[in-house]
Amino acid sequence: MLNNNLGMPRIGFNRELKKACENYWAGKISRDELLRTGELVRKVNLELQLKAGIDLIPCNDFSFYDQVLDASLMTANIPQRYYDLLKQNTEMDLYFAMARGYQDENHDITAMEMTKWFDTNYHYIVPEFHKGQSFRLLSTKVINEFKEAKKILGKTPKPVMIGPVSYLLSGKEKEEGFHRIDLLDNLLLVYIEVVSILQKNGAEWIQFDEPFLAMDLTEKEKGAFIRCYVELCNNFPELKIILASYFGGLKENMKLAVSLPVTAIHVDLAKAPEQLGYILNILSDKMYLSLGVVDGRNIWKNDYQKSISLIKQAVDKLGKNRIMIAPSCSLLHVPYDLDGETGISPEIKNWMAFAKQKLTEVNELSAIINGNTALLEKNKSAVNDRRNSGLIHNKAVIERVENIDENDIHRKNGFDIRRQKQQDEFKFPLFPTTTIGSFPQTKEVRRLRASLRKNEITNEEYKKAIELLTETCIRIQEEIGIDVLVHGEFERNDMVEYFGEQLEGYVFTQNGWVQSYGSRCVKPPIIYGDIERKNDMTVYWSKLAQSKTKKFMKGMLTGPVTILQWSFVRDDQPRSETALQIALALRDEVKALEEAGIKIIQIDEPAIREGLPLRKSEWKAYLEWAVKAFRVASSGVKDETQIHTHMCYSEFNDIIDAIAQMDADVITIETSRSQMELLDAFVDFKYPNEIGPGVYDIHSPRVPAVDEMVGLLRKAASLLPYQNIWVNPDCGLKTRKWEETEASLKNMVKAAQIMRASYN
Ligand code: GLN
Ligand code: ZN
Repeated sequence: MLNNNLGMPRIGFNRELKKACENYWAGKISRDELLRTGELVRKVNLELQLKAGIDLIPCNDFSFYDQVLDASLMTANIPQRYYDLLKQNTEMDLYFAMARGYQDENHDITAMEMTKWFDTNYHYIVPEFHKGQSFRLLSTKVINEFKEAKKILGKTPKPVMIGPVSYLLSGKEKEEGFHRIDLLDNLLLVYIEVVSILQKNGAEWIQFDEPFLAMDLTEKEKGAFIRCYVELCNNFPELKIILASYFGGLKENMKLAVSLPVTAIHVDLAKAPEQLGYILNILSDKMYLSLGVVDGRNIWKNDYQKSISLIKQAVDKLGKNRIMIAPSCSLLHVPYDLDGETGISPEIKNWMAFAKQKLTEVNELSAIINGNTALLEKNKSAVNDRRNSGLIHNKAVIERVENIDENDIHRKNGFDIRRQKQQDEFKFPLFPTTTIGSFPQTKEVRRLRASLRKNEITNEEYKKAIELLTETCIRIQEEIGIDVLVHGEFERNDMVEYFGEQLEGYVFTQNGWVQSYGSRCVKPPIIYGDIERKNDMTVYWSKLAQSKTKKFMKGMLTGPVTILQWSFVRDDQPRSETALQIALALRDEVKALEEAGIKIIQIDEPAIREGLPLRKSEWKAYLEWAVKAFRVASSGVKDETQIHTHMCYSEFNDIIDAIAQMDADVITIETSRSQMELLDAFVDFKYPNEIGPGVYDIHSPRVPAVDEMVGLLRKAASLLPYQNIWVNPDCGLKTRKWEETEASLKNMVKAAQIMRASYN
């Protein structure tokens, strides 16, 4: 039996890589220093896995930004707009330019599109494809990291790459008249070259990640899997190729997967344990099976009894030699280490496991199979403690969820009536301007929070300082001439954690960071029990902000689905149940804001789309409870109160119906990087409510020009009723600097004025 790992978190135990990248971008450290940080992060990971008894230790699971972008660089899939940089810059700067955009005296290049990695909160850089395009080996990162890891480990690591088919499927055609899958043969040439170099350097096992196997596939795509792996395996009969699927069951792709001539298949048994019986029945004679029994997506301690029964079932059928024990997917999606967490009560902490602990779990499961029953007993007692703990259940909350009725999910009147009342109330100009909520979270803001945490300043001092920042932010928005203001969210560390901290049923980590995109990390709070709101959560700040301006101030909440989606959630009750509990807490907050005189309330749901199940057949049920949760949260208000919602990265085509069902008065969405392409769904659907298509890409430090934004707005106005259009950035501005933010928003307001002039 082999202990297998698919990938490690890579931001560093103390976010060293994040900090180094940001310092490098700011010109504060050299490239060599950045490279050295990368080396260190990899070394620590490798040694940790070695110590934890992992046999198949991955390499190339590290990345400076994103593993899909790494594959683009490996295969020289560089969009033409970067060719100049390819000539003049180092590989690293080209790489970051593709991820983040690039501006100097001679260039103004937009970044590549970014989107969610399956149903996770990780974002990847979307490859761009052209008809007949060829590829060549450019970045040798995987080979370098293989050699490096081999040296550190003193044994052969397992290179990990995104598989060719999933790489193609993860991208987008940038012109018509072909399907990106048609590029497979060209792409394979580079993969074959890379693999042959790896083989020459002593590689034995190679893992190709093909998460698209957990999705609905067309016949053409299925055919591509066959062509791809027949070709790869034919070229390398001596190599042991692992095909890794995860994030869901293989379902109707199961036969396809086991028909491929690979050495091993990895399956996700945390998400889909029910698939084991079937795969054992149809697995070919020699194939290895990697059992992903340790959940790589959540932080709960593994239930050994459950896992052992799965493993035993496999061992009985295949024998120990053909079995691997593994986490369900890369550990990228969980924090590094539970050990250092001192703020969680020992009782609850004993229910959890992070990446480091999950490696131990893999090893212990092997040990149990090999006879160490003491480990099983110890685990049983922790699992039972959790199940029977009095901390988890709250009867009042459970009853309130059961009693949600029709009245709780409808506004008093339909949008037409509400709209009239709201127009009378607000008297906005055409193309009203607003922002999505947060303003730059500068060092100063973060330092304040750190000081409060360390008790260097009092609560009062903290509040005073935040108040000052808020006021400054309001003045700046007034000067720029924005119509609907926001308070800036300076009091919030994170849009989910902030709420979690004030709700019952949550615990928090001090260092439980998970990569979201590039250097951006989030620290998902952990829902362990029933959710209840005991006090106002945002009223103080919204009221204060509204008192400082004559303009309308938006109250700012995070929606139930997003709070759920960006937390680590309970695995002992359905997600829908938890979502409704959160929704009720938010409903009370919305009402409290309204009572405090806040007339516009935004309930952000950026995560609603990423929560979609990977299989279409499961969408309907999900959308039903997700929409219901939003409506429970939002529909307790008067007609005059304007409800906004905001979503990012959304490909709305297949879910526009549900988006409309949410019945927000205004929705703001991300559209700038896609050049308004994402609007199509709203246009085709004739989306009835108001809509703010983002005109300013906030993921890049670039300042968009007035003309550029006017261009986007004209495009939007040609597609949608112009009276419905709001003008706003793609998303919150917390990651930006003040300078670029002010410059961009000034341009944005000018763009809105130009639009008004031509439509009035
Ligand atoms: N209101 C949030 C902000 O501006 C929304 C962020 C998001 O959509 N991810 O930061
Ligand atoms: Zn957003």
